[in-house]
Amino acid sequence: MADEKINILLVDDQPQNLLSLEAILGAPDYNLVRALSGEEALKRLLRENFTVILLDAQMPQMDGFETAIIIKRREQSKHIPIIFLTAMSPDERHISKGYLVGAVDYLFKPLNPEILRSKVAVFVDLYKTNRQLLKEREARADAEAVQETLSFLVDAGDLLASSLDYKTILAQVAELAVPKIADWCAVDIVEEDGAIQRVATMHADPEKVKLAQKLERRYPPDRLALRGAAQVIRTGQPEIYPEIQEALIEESALDKTHLKIIRQLGPVSAMVVPLIARGKTLGAITFVTAESGRHYGSKDLLLAQELAGRAALAIDNARLYSSAQDEIAERKEITKRLAAQHAVTRILAESNRLEEAAPKILQAACESFGWELGALWRVDHEGALLRCVEIWNPSTQRFRAFDEGSRQKTFSLKDGLPGRVWADGKPLWISDLRNDSNFPRKLLAAEAGFNTALALPILKGKEILGILEFFSQQARLPNSDLLEVMSGIGSQVGQFIERKEAERAMKESELRKAAILESALDCIVTMDDLGRIIEFNPAAESIFGYRRDQVIGKEMAELMIPPALRERHRAGLSRYLATGEGPILGKRIEITAMRSDGTEFPVELAVIPIPLDGAPLFSGYLRDITKRKEAEEALKLKTLEAEESNRLKSQFVSNVSHELRTPINAIIGYSYILSDEIYGALSREQKESLERINVNANDLLRLVNDVLDLSKVESGKLAIHLERLYLHPMLKEVVASMKPLLDQKSVVVRWNRIQDLPSIESDGVKVKQILTNLLSNAAKFTPQGSITISGVDRPDKEGLEIAIQDTGIGIKPEEISKIFTEFHQVDAELTRQYGGVGLGLRIVKDLLHFLKGEIRVESVYGKGSTFTVFLPYRFDRRKLNS
Ligand code: ADP
Repeated sequence: MADEKINILLVDDQPQNLLSLEAILGAPDYNLVRALSGEEALKRLLRENFTVILLDAQMPQMDGFETAIIIKRREQSKHIPIIFLTAMSPDERHISKGYLVGAVDYLFKPLNPEILRSKVAVFVDLYKTNRQLLKEREARADAEAVQETLSFLVDAGDLLASSLDYKTILAQVAELAVPKIADWCAVDIVEEDGAIQRVATMHADPEKVKLAQKLERRYPPDRLALRGAAQVIRTGQPEIYPEIQEALIEESALDKTHLKIIRQLGPVSAMVVPLIARGKTLGAITFVTAESGRHYGSKDLLLAQELAGRAALAIDNARLYSSAQDEIAERKEITKRLAAQHAVTRILAESNRLEEAAPKILQAACESFGWELGALWRVDHEGALLRCVEIWNPSTQRFRAFDEGSRQKTFSLKDGLPGRVWADGKPLWISDLRNDSNFPRKLLAAEAGFNTALALPILKGKEILGILEFFSQQARLPNSDLLEVMSGIGSQVGQFIERKEAERAMKESELRKAAILESALDCIVTMDDLGRIIEFNPAAESIFGYRRDQVIGKEMAELMIPPALRERHRAGLSRYLATGEGPILGKRIEITAMRSDGTEFPVELAVIPIPLDGAPLFSGYLRDITKRKEAEEALKLKTLEAEESNRLKSQFVSNVSHELRTPINAIIGYSYILSDEIYGALSREQKESLERINVNANDLLRLVNDVLDLSKVESGKLAIHLERLYLHPMLKEVVASMKPLLDQKSVVVRWNRIQDLPSIESDGVKVKQILTNLLSNAAKFTPQGSITISGVDRPDKEGLEIAIQDTGIGIKPEEISKIFTEFHQVDAELTRQYGGVGLGLRIVKDLLHFLKGEIRVESVYGKGSTFTVFLPYRFDRRKLNS
């Protein structure tokens, strides 16, 4: 600054005068500027600033006085001291004219160099002093400005920090800026979606604010604009327009109206600074001057940036605070919910029965979520209705009637609030009970002052076990969060019921199992997959001779299986575990077991695998069959003995029969001789007696033959003689032999499809004996009516059937099974009447068995009987052998 040159303007129309002036004033720190006319001087003055002007008074066109007048009139140059130089006489008027136009001094030509120099030096010194003072003042002003700025920023910071609502902060920023920094201030914020939103506009004059807002509404900020807030937000760099030129306004105007409004607002200077916090651009502040005519400079920009920085920080803080606040509120809500859920969980965990837990749960739910009364309804399956089993309320007189009324009520499906939830399986929220059309307790609820109700199902899977119902005096609108929590409580209760039911069922089955184990007569021994005993019941203790505690955890094979069988048992177990195949599982087998004293005994065993999630268990049911085995042995022996004695009996019978035949035949033979009157004529009485002898002897012979047949069958001595048999002629023959008897009783014989029967291969004598027996029975037991003989071919059974149907006396149902046993006759009286000894059907059955045939009988007592014989087409020897 010290070597800054001092500009001195020399004005004279005579170049040589100027030269001499330069010669006189030539000093190193002087910058002498020449002007040859007043006009030139004025031009120079426009371009530069001068410390002093030496002005020639007499100049041709514009003289010194006129020039001085103009200089003094100009703002820029009016304080510059002017020294007039004149060659004119020192006329008093002249001098006063010079002073009048603003001269500070007058020098006369020829100039005294000393005087000139000292006069100029005075002004130069004065100027220098002034300049110094000015500088000092400027410095002071600067310092003051800085101080002011600082305190402004401090105030601004305090103010901004005092609010945690960011909208308020932004309004405050704008207020702080106007009019201190700007005539106009606007704040723009970037939304989450990137859109730019003007959040504050400020001007000292509210009318102008309205105008600006109108402008903003009509011309919303263009986020792609290359200048202004959008650009600053994009780049994070401030913009400054010290002087807003007309061209800039025209360029930024969108249309003629826009231009008009902008012009009306009359912007002079502007700056736009970004709002940056933690590296993120939140928005921008625009400062504009208009009426004040102020022009922004770098210092203003710094201040604006400083202010923006603080504002951004405050906004950031506010945002953090508000999200923290939200989080805290949310956490509080969650904590409350968790606490309620936890309370319910704890209540349920500590309870054994729903009846015990219900009042506490209702209380916890009511108190946590602001309900005044809670009720529990259970489904009564017998009556197919809902019954209120529990109510919780803070025992206010006002709720008593509602409480009692609810307890007395029942609801069926779709009926009332509980019934609807029961039907839908979904929660139901009634905000206004007075206007609900399906709420029968309306009067009671009105009396209690209830406005809102919520009911939710207690679910076990899809099954509804009950309903939870809550009431509030407050009118509450459905709240999905609350609904969710309350439903959670409902499902917790459902799970509780389900768990308790399962526990009860489990306990019951445990008890049942224990009782079975305890009382079972069979030994029940359960082993695990490693073959270790895990269960050993009292029966097992007494049979095996071990105490339960001696065997639990030990290998079963070692203790209970004889050494010779152990390896087989172990191999079987591991094979089952590897392949799932267990041929002995699930069956009853007989096996040898071992007692604690090493003795072996027979057992009947059934092993049942119990499939579990992990390794299976095996339960063995064992029964000591020592006694049974002994009995079986004894029986076998007895059977053998019986068979032997039977054989001996048959042998005896057969021998006796044979021996009897000879004398009977002798009797018959001699009776014929006598009746032929070879030994002389017989009287009528003698003849009749002889006839009797003959008939009885023949009966006796038949009986002996039958007994012989039976003994043959029984002793298995029957021989077979196979031949082709035609049943039609054989039946005809048999019927013919009975003709006298049938004729006597006038019983007719009918034939039905006998001719169609195919021939068979069988033993003719035996088949004839069978048919004879059956037909003679039919004839015997049929006093009148008919005997129908039918034949049916049964290719499906590879044989044929012959049915002999009579219209005789029939057989009582209870007798039917007995008629095939030997010597059985239904009625002794009848037998006497009809004859016979009760061997016939027994022999028929045995013969048919021998011939691989079958017999069956159907009979209606008093109406008649049908005996049906099946004979196979072929007699199969192999079958006989087997
Ligand atoms: P019986 O020599 O007495 O005829 P069976 O063994 O032939 O002996 O018959 C046993 C009994 O079965 C007969 O006494 C009779 O009571 C009854 N019975 C057999 N066939 C008939 C029939 N067709 N109708 C009614 N009863 C019959």
